[in-house]
Amino acid sequence: MRGINGQPDETIEADLYVSAMSVDVMKVLMPQPWKEMQFFKKMEGLEGVPVINLHLWFDRKITDIDHLLFSRSDILSVYADMSITCKDYEDPDRSMLELVLAPAKDWIDKSEAEIMAATMQELERLFPQHLTGENPAKVRKYKVVKTPRSVYTSSPGRQACRPSQVTPISNFYLAGSYTMQRYLGSMEGAVLSGKLAAQAITTAYPLSNAAIPLQSSTPAVPA
Ligand SMILES: Cc1cc2nc3c(=O)[nH]c(=O)nc-3n(C[C@H](O)[C@H](O)[C@H](O)COP(=O)(O)OP(=O)(O)OC[C@H]3O[C@@H](n4cnc5c(N)ncnc54)[C@H](O)[C@@H]3O)c2cc1C
Repeated sequence: MRGINGQPDETIEADLYVSAMSVDVMKVLMPQPWKEMQFFKKMEGLEGVPVINLHLWFDRKITDIDHLLFSRSDILSVYADMSITCKDYEDPDRSMLELVLAPAKDWIDKSEAEIMAATMQELERLFPQHLTGENPAKVRKYKVVKTPRSVYTSSPGRQACRPSQVTPISNFYLAGSYTMQRYLGSMEGAVLSGKLAAQAITTAYPLSNAAIPLQSSTPAVPA
């Protein structure tokens, strides 16, 4: 395990291992021999799509809607006014918009200034009453969060590339929204995948057995 905050690296041995990493990280970090196995190999067909998240703090209210919204913009897909929808950002006088810029393929390598300029241009179109005219709303501060590999691109044929939570490695399980479950890559899918992984483990190793009955011949997976 890679040391966190400057701590030394550490090898932790366990009876069972569950990866909850995203698919692109899992593809890079898995041991070389696994990469040759068909089960893991097919994951090559899953590739994360670039996404940009924008956090904008305004000097006044822009919306009054307590919901996630789809926008009419070509680049800003969904947004929410967090000052209304989320208690942690609650502000009765000023909006805090969180927007998803997607598809972000053509934007991910651009500077924050370019991304912000395009975003503000789109917002002027979406909210002309607040962002144009003599006294337009001003952005007090902003944060641009780039995720170069987000959820896997859901193009035709991807379903066949999704691995199950149970793997050919007897003490190694997968979780994550990319693994096989009824939803596409999403928060619901991530939660369900974790439940399926837990279910598979408790089925294979019932809790009535105090110790996990791994056969001595089962090799531990190197951390
Ligand atoms: C901008 C944006 C907006 C989204 N909006 C929505 C939405 O509105 N609704 C929705 O349902 N879904 C949305 N999604 C998708 C949703 O966020 C994902 O589907 C979900 O978070 C996937 O969960 P996961 O647990 O599979 O993976 P992740 O949440 O990606 O978790 C993977 C974890 O692995 C960790 N990790 C990475 N590398 C290592 C390593 N080397 N060692 C150990 N750990 C590592 C990461 O830090 C992370 O915590 C959005 C995604 C993005 C990027």
